[in-house]
Amino acid sequence: MKSADFQPATLAAHGCGHTDPVHGAIVPPIQPSTTYERDPDYQLINQARLYSRADNPNYDACEALLTELEGGAASLVFSSGMAAATAVFQALASGDHVIVPPVFYWALRNWLFGFGARWGLKVETVDTTQPALVAAALKPGVTKLIWIETPANPNLAVADIAALAEIAHAAGARLAVDSTFATPVHSQPLALGADLVMHSATKYLNGHSDVVAGTLTTRAADDHWQRLKLVRGQVGGVLGPFEAWLLQRGMRTLFVRVERQSRNAQRIAERFASHVAIRAALYPGLPSHPGHAIAAKQMRGGFGGMLSLRVHGGAPAALNVARKVQLWKRATSLGGVESLIEHRASVESPGSGTPDDLLRLSTGIEDAGDLIADLEQALG
Ligand SMILES: *Cc1c(COP(=O)(O)O)cnc(C)c1O
Repeated sequence: MKSADFQPATLAAHGCGHTDPVHGAIVPPIQPSTTYERDPDYQLINQARLYSRADNPNYDACEALLTELEGGAASLVFSSGMAAATAVFQALASGDHVIVPPVFYWALRNWLFGFGARWGLKVETVDTTQPALVAAALKPGVTKLIWIETPANPNLAVADIAALAEIAHAAGARLAVDSTFATPVHSQPLALGADLVMHSATKYLNGHSDVVAGTLTTRAADDHWQRLKLVRGQVGGVLGPFEAWLLQRGMRTLFVRVERQSRNAQRIAERFASHVAIRAALYPGLPSHPGHAIAAKQMRGGFGGMLSLRVHGGAPAALNVARKVQLWKRATSLGGVESLIEHRASVESPGSGTPDDLLRLSTGIEDAGDLIADLEQALG
């Protein structure tokens, strides 16, 4: 199957067209071996692998498919989204200046301002929804990376990927995008000029709340990418073969899941934007969202399955809604086929800045009417 001939949804469904050359099986086998034999001349057989802390045959299908879906040059899978994201920063040097938004995945922010700062990274917070502010904060030659997340967790803020890529490149910096919420179904940051795309594959890529994994895809197999590969092999944030196999299986249904999740989220956002108990519905698919125009320009086919609702009455009211839902599950994480609701401020560390009246909703693939009815009774 020549990938150029097919649409991304087709490539995903076929898992990049793998057929087992030995048995004709249409799904890949699981290869648990940690090591690989050498021939009597001490050469690796078939130029094969050396040791499973560097990579594993079960990564091949995931990485090849993701590279196709993102339109990149190469991909790497990691043991978690955090392992993937932190590798990007570990491939930088002490003293490098990096720009991050005020709101992004809180565990990564904690790591950057804790370990990253101790390790010598100069981390600066700039409102990345305002490209002019980013341009003013860039230090040519010193700023090595702009990190953005769009739509962002949990306020759904939208950053202009194309504008930020241009600004970054003019100053000799790279742009990395955490595209976990957008998924390759709705967004291809590399085509807009970004240098790296990261996913918490724990979320939509796997989609079944049963694997922790992360991915990176690069636009060019350049020196930074070579360092990233080294980081994975040396630090050892490698995915187990079974998890990689589950991930490639999950990715085959990515498009049907995400299309349904986004439709459900759009309907829920529209229904509750004007509900008497709701202060604000945060969803980039709503024309009232401050990032709607940019989201409409850089996303296609929908705006993702994530939304946040801010309720009147502060934390007690928000927690009361979470208490009363019967179908939505009270749990952290997102991107699975089942809908989850989370009072984010209870989960993040104090001072995270997340409003305490905010409920983050990860919309699943259930019937939209059932999801709406459950929220209505919980808000009523
Ligand atoms: C979950 C998440 C991460 C971290 O990924 P893990 O797989 O949990 O390590 C990073 N970014 C975003 C946007 C996430 O939702």
